[in-house]
Formats: sequence, structure tokens, C-alpha cells
Amino acid sequence: MRAWPAFALILALGATSLAAQAVPGGYAAGTLDDRIDLLVRQGYDHPAEALASLKQLREASGESMVPAVARNFVLAEGIVQAQAGRANEAGTLAEQLLVLSREQQDPLAAAGSNLVRAIVAETAGQLDVAAALAQSAATAYQPGCPPHGPAAPAASDAMQAASQQPCDYRSLWRALQVLERRAMSVGQTSAAREHAQAAFDLADWAGDAFRKVYSLSSLAVATARAGQSDVAARSIAQARRMAAGLADPMAMVRVKLNEARVADLRSDPEATLRATEEAHAIAQRADARRMAALLMSNLSDIYAKRGRPADALRAADAALPVVQEFNDQRMERALINNAGLAKIGLHRIAEGKQDLVRVLHLWQQSGQVADEAQTLREFGDALAEAGDTRGALELYHRERTLSAEVMQRSQNLVLKEMQTRYDAEAKQRSIDLVRRDNEVKTASLANRDLMQRIWVLLATIMALSVALAVLLVRRVRRTNRQLEASHARLRVASERDPLTDLANRRYFHSVMAAEPKAVGEGFSGALLLVDIDHFKHINDGHGHASGDVVLVEIARRLNSAVRGNDLVVRWGGEEFLILASKLTTEQTDQLAARVLASVGSAPIMANNEALWVTASVGYACFPLPPYAVPVTWEQAVNLADMALYTAKNQGRNRAIGLVSASASDAQSLRAIESDFDRAWHEGRVTLRNTPGPGAS
Ligand code: GH3
Ligand code: MG
Ligand code: MG
Repeated sequence: MRAWPAFALILALGATSLAAQAVPGGYAAGTLDDRIDLLVRQGYDHPAEALASLKQLREASGESMVPAVARNFVLAEGIVQAQAGRANEAGTLAEQLLVLSREQQDPLAAAGSNLVRAIVAETAGQLDVAAALAQSAATAYQPGCPPHGPAAPAASDAMQAASQQPCDYRSLWRALQVLERRAMSVGQTSAAREHAQAAFDLADWAGDAFRKVYSLSSLAVATARAGQSDVAARSIAQARRMAAGLADPMAMVRVKLNEARVADLRSDPEATLRATEEAHAIAQRADARRMAALLMSNLSDIYAKRGRPADALRAADAALPVVQEFNDQRMERALINNAGLAKIGLHRIAEGKQDLVRVLHLWQQSGQVADEAQTLREFGDALAEAGDTRGALELYHRERTLSAEVMQRSQNLVLKEMQTRYDAEAKQRSIDLVRRDNEVKTASLANRDLMQRIWVLLATIMALSVALAVLLVRRVRRTNRQLEASHARLRVASERDPLTDLANRRYFHSVMAAEPKAVGEGFSGALLLVDIDHFKHINDGHGHASGDVVLVEIARRLNSAVRGNDLVVRWGGEEFLILASKLTTEQTDQLAARVLASVGSAPIMANNEALWVTASVGYACFPLPPYAVPVTWEQAVNLADMALYTAKNQGRNRAIGLVSASASDAQSLRAIESDFDRAWHEGRVTLRNTPGPGAS
């Protein structure tokens, strides 16, 4: 075995860095982890050296190691042992991790234990067990990591300490690798792609260029498997460019290995061969024994398919001891398989059959039906090629039965995968629906709130408007009432005589106008005109003020002389009119006598003087007997005035009543009106003369 100068370099670096970063109470995250990680990676090809270096590094770290660092060392050793196919040693270390997890309450130690066991199972070819363990490890690692954990890897020590669980992204990445490889081997392409993508994102987040390149090329294989060979080719090209910039040649080996897989899926045997040979050359130069053996195994497969059995056998023989050293049963079987096929191709049929029967037995034992079917098919092809038709037919028959079984299984797996995806999508849809429903509800709540506000505002405006309207209506009504009152006061004032408080002539006119009259019906009732005798002398002799007193007193006396329903009007200066309804002629005569008496039977006191006053009255009762010719009220007043004039002519202090008029129609009555004196002398009117108090 050749010396491995890289190890010496790493150890030298490790010693200096450790001295430089002796941080009290802990370690600088990254540097030590990086070195441990590199050793684990190199342990894939050189487990013994890697374990020795890990031991040295641990001892150099000293006794007072923080629990997390101790756990990382155990985990690193466990992974190296597991990858090397040393199931017992790896199992012991997985146990140690479990104890650590219990003692330190460290969930990452338990996750590490599962990861180690997952790699053990994978190396032993138990892919389902490996996937289950890797899944539970991934679930335990996930909380501290993106997308659930911190947003950026640049978290400081303080932040890392503050967060509940740091992200061991390398271990999570390894768990995802196991999941991806298993998904790929059982044909769950989309799941494989998702795991590869998650691993890539994680490496990207951590800024780990090696793992980024690795995952990008793995992602390309899954993409090619999904039929997107263009996208896959672009990813491979990108990964190749990135790998070219990295110091670690193993990055390019991984890329070339996956490039060959992509080329194979594209059915491009030339490119497949070229990429595999290039990868093998680089791996050999880098002294990566195991990787070189794996690539050699792939080459033997390619050579066999291309009808180069001698090369195929040589390659298988070269790879087999290394593969056996690593206890990689899966690859060992593949190599024996290839060697057997090559031997048949080289007409060493008995030897070849022996190899293939052994492989078939091994596949059967571990229940790997798909691999068994593949071997049967290739075995049959090889026998047919070599001319053993019977043997070939028998193998084909077995292969068909198994293939049907495999088909069924893989259909079930595909169905299961579809179901899982469908469930996840349905769940997402219902989450989306609920979220959209929530959004709609929130929006409608906001709308309702807005509507409520609008309604409240409208209601307030309405209430204010109503209140304002009520106020305005009240004000208008009050103003109207005030107007009406003042109007009434004005009307009363305008129809009253301010001195005597009697109704005035205007009021009498309104009463006459309001009197309802049938057609052809004239004025009815008694009219008395009263005029104070020689009133001018009172004014002249006692003063105008005394005259006023006399007028007021006469008004009072007239009011008391009439009945309640009768109306006394101040007709002019010292002239009054009395309107009395439903009186007989005799009753009117008596009223005239009462008026004369009320005015003249007692003196009136004015300015401490007793003044004796008399009045003259002219009156009539309408319609006039005997013809009862209808008259207007103006005619009636005119006739009463003529009677008053007669009373003044006959010496005053008397009442002259027009008792009857021999006028059978309006015309003869108008003739009487036009010359009352003459009518009286001719006896066309009958007058009654009632003298006042003290008159002769
Ligand atoms: P006769 O007997 O013919 O009726 O004579 P008379 O003096 O009463 O009549 P005349 O028509 O000549 O005079 C009426 C006077 O009454 C004239 C006027 O100055 C006076 N008079 C009219 N109204 C008032 C008033 O309100 N107060 C006073 N003090 N005098 C008034
Ligand atoms: Mg007069
Ligand atoms: Mg007079």
C-alpha cells in the first residue's frame, strides 16, 4: 500500500490550528469539525488511517472536551467503521452514542446513532432498513437546520448557543444521501430528486463547496432518471466547472461517476465509458482505493455490455479484493455477476455458471428480487450467446416470473409514492383552501366592519337631520304662532276703536260681509244710529280731554243698554251705531228709549265737572213692514240716518223710528230714500217719536 501524504498534512495542520484556537470553555465551530469531516470522507477509502488520525486528533484536543465535540468524534469513528463494512465496531459506537444521548440529554447523539446504523444497513445491502434509520436521523437533525432552523449559516457562537439545537448539517446531509440512494434504487425518482435537492440546498446554505458539487451531480442523475436529460446535462456541466475549482480531486471523481450514470440513462455508451475511465484515473491518482474499485466494477459492467469480456473479467478481478476488504456485499455480488458473465463470454462456461449460480443464491437469500431478475436476464443472454439455448430458455422463464413479481412490487411502490404525493398535494390544497377561506373571511369581516361604520355614520347623519328638521319645524311653528298672534292682535287693533274700545266701522263692514245671505234676501235686524247732541259745545266749553271722557262714558252706557248679543260700533266722531238682531218693532222702540235714558238720565263726570249730555237716535227694524222689501245694509244704515236727521230737526234728545214704509218694491223704497222728508209728509213712511229724559 502506498503512503498517503495527505494525512500527514492534515495532522500537521490540525496540531497548529488546535494550539491557535484554544478558546476557553469551547471550540471554534467549523475548524475542528472541518478536520473531522475531512477524515471521515477520506475514511471511505482508507478507514484504518482515518481512524488512527481521528484518535490522534481527539487526544490532541485534551481531556476537557465539551460533550458536543466528544459526540462528534464518536460519530465520526462510527461512520468510518460503518462505511468500511465493519458492522460490529460501528454497532458498538452507535451504542456509545445512545448512552451519550441519555447521559447528556443530547438528541443529536441519538440521531448520530441512527445515522451510523443506517450506513451499516446500507453497506450490508439492507436499503429499506437503512432508509428508515436515515429518516429518523434526518427528522432529529432537521429542527436546527434550514428551512426550519436559522436563516443563515453565519450564526455566531452566541447565537448558536442561544438557539435550542445547532445544525449538524453534515450528518443531515449524509442521512439525506442514504434516503436518496435508496429512493433511486427502488425507482422512486421524484423522492430521490427531492432528497438530492434538499441535500444540495443544505450544502449551499452551509457554504460547503464539496457537498454542493456532490449533490448537484446526484441531482442531475435523478433529473435524468425523470427524463429531463437536457437539465441533467446542464447540471453535470455546472458541477464539473465547480469541481474543477476545488482542491479535493474526489469532488471531480463524484461528478464524473454521476456524469457516466447520466450518459448511461441517455443510452450513450461512449460517453458512459469515457466518464467512468476518467473518474477511475483521477481516483487512482488520488489513491482512493475503494472508489477506484467501485469505478473498476462499473467499467467491468460497461466492458461486458460492449462485448469486451476479457477486459470485463480483468476489471472485475482487479476490483473484487478491495470490495471484499470493505465487506461491500452488494458490490461484491455485482462483481461476481460480471465476472461470471465475462467467463461465459470467454467460453469458460462451467466457471461462469458457477459464479452466477452463487450470485443468484445470494440475491435470493437477501430477498433482492430486482437484482436476482437482472442477473437471470444477463445470465440467460450470456448462455444464448454461448449457444446454450436450453439453459438460456430456462433462465428466461425464471426471469419472466420474477420480473412480473418485480413489476408488481415496483408498481405498488410507484402507486404508494403517487398516493403519498397525492396525499401531500391534497393536504397542501386543503391548507391553501383553508388559507384562502380565511383570507376571504377576513376580507368579509373587514367589509362588514366598514359597512357597519357607514351605517352608523348614515344613521348619525339621519338622526342629526331629523333633529335639525324637528328644530326647524318647531321654530317655524313658533314663528307662525307669533305671526298669527301678532296678526290677530293687529286685526283686533284694526277693528277696535282705541279710545272707547268699541268695534269700529271696519269691523262692522267685515261682519256685514261675512253674513251669509240667500239670493233675494236683504239685511235683517234693527239698526240704531246714535249722535251726541251739541258735542262741539262740550269740546269747546270743557276741553277736548273732557270730550274724550264723555265719549268713553257714552260708549260704556250704550254697551250696558244693549243685550249681550247686540253690537255697539263707534260709527264716527261722536256717532254710534247699534246692531241688534231678532227684535220686534216694539222691542226696538224700547231699546231706543233705553239708549236715550242711558245717555241722558245721569250727568257724566269729566275733569271734576258733572256734564249733562243728551243724544238723538234714528232707527228702523228691517225688513220694513208691511212689504218687507229686501234692502242692503248700506240702504238700512242710510234709512236709519234719515230718521236720525229727522230727530235732530225735531229738537234733539229724542229717537225717531221708521216703523213702516209703503214701498212694495225696491224702486219705491229708493224714491223714499231720495227724499225722506217729502215721503214722511206724504205719509208714505210712518215714524215713531220717543222723547229723551227731560224732553217735552
Ligand atoms: P249736533 O247736535 O248737530 O250733532 O251738533 P254737534 O256739535 O254735536 O255736531 P258737529 O258735527 O257740529 O260737531 C261734532 C264735533 O265732535 C266736532 C268734533 O270736533 C268733535 N269730535 C269728533 N270726534 C271727537 C273726539 O274723538 N273727541 C272729541 N273731544 N271731540 C270730537
Ligand atoms: Mg255728529
Ligand atoms: Mg252731534
